[in-house]
Amino acid sequence: MSQLPITNKPISFTNNLTRLQLISLDACTRCMECLQWCPVLDVTGDETLTTPEKIRVYGELVRAQEGLRAKIFGRPEVAPAILEKLTQALYTCTTCGRCGEVCPVGINTQRLWPALRAKMVELGVGPFGAQRDMARIVAEKHNPYDKPHAERFAWIPPQVTVADRAAIGYFTGCSGAYTAQPMVAGALRVMSALGIEFTLFGDEWCCGFPLFIVGELALMQELIRHNVDGFAARGIKHLAVSCPCCMFMLQNHWAYFYGAPLPFDIIHITQLVKPYVQAGKLVLTKPLAATIAYHDPCYLSRGTRVIEEPRAVLAQIQGARLVELPHSRELSRCCGAGGGIRRALPEVSIEMARNLMREAESVGAEILAIDCPACYERLHLAQQGWDGKVQVMDLMQLVTGLL
Ligand code: SF4
Ligand code: SF4
Repeated sequence: MSQLPITNKPISFTNNLTRLQLISLDACTRCMECLQWCPVLDVTGDETLTTPEKIRVYGELVRAQEGLRAKIFGRPEVAPAILEKLTQALYTCTTCGRCGEVCPVGINTQRLWPALRAKMVELGVGPFGAQRDMARIVAEKHNPYDKPHAERFAWIPPQVTVADRAAIGYFTGCSGAYTAQPMVAGALRVMSALGIEFTLFGDEWCCGFPLFIVGELALMQELIRHNVDGFAARGIKHLAVSCPCCMFMLQNHWAYFYGAPLPFDIIHITQLVKPYVQAGKLVLTKPLAATIAYHDPCYLSRGTRVIEEPRAVLAQIQGARLVELPHSRELSRCCGAGGGIRRALPEVSIEMARNLMREAESVGAEILAIDCPACYERLHLAQQGWDGKVQVMDLMQLVTGLL
């Protein structure tokens, strides 16, 4: 690795960490429980890149750079090899948060990793591999897929009516708009079928999550102000969203980057639909005699704790047998799409997706119902050249076909 800027321009290694995150750098007991649960480690087998290693090395970096000795004698140079290994470890991860879920001392890794990655970006060593093009692409195209902005809403189904102004706004998200169109088209069709009036923001931009998760924060304020102001101008009170990563970003980070409380609240599409389900208003006229397993996306179950609502929607399907995956709810297995890993380490992410489909096969599922556009893209890609039989379908796509 070339000369690092760390000795020329000292940075703070701790100023973006909460007190709890600072404590967590000292709290890891190296019990190694999390190693049993890491879906990346299942594929790579590389124990030098694990959660306790990342925490240990970062903690040592903080102590060396900001401890008493550094204050008396000055900061030592960081060995490039250490920084290189730390960068590799931090980015060989989908930020799925499963390690944090099982951690006996409660280290919330899903929140910790983006903060540490942001420091790698400040140091000039992150993001990783093909992730490095993403900020430029988002700045130019307003989506991370390098797709034309003009095609963002090319998928809107002809049978739905989009209001100019409404109490409910729908945030499409880049992944839904460009890589999982049956998911977002299904969401609009279900809202229409339930008589829910909604509006869209025709100049919607990326929610910021793909950049946030790799630690690139420079564009965040611009993206978020544009989106918040655009939806607020349509008079919305609630912003519904399908994508779990968007949901996590909107709910947890938009207000911070916006610089003020949001003028609307954030709701997942299944949370919006659930009261209609409970009132018996989601009428699925066609039965479906199939065994269906539901996969909890990392940023929906662990990220925002939306767990029962998608199951309540699935339970409306007449004739279906619903089964649980061996790992579900808060302990679900990551599909391999998250954390920017599908750009940086595509082979690893595809193998992770196949591991998830193997779980579905192990419980006899004919359909793997998913609720995330990133899972949708990854699992469909992983099916190419694979001889498994499980059909992958988005939840709203599935329901729409039975209306
Ligand atoms: S967040 Fe997920 S992928 Fe990353 S280290 Fe933890 S369990 Fe592994
Ligand atoms: S489970 Fe928690 S305490 Fe144990 S090694 Fe992993 S991060 Fe450290």
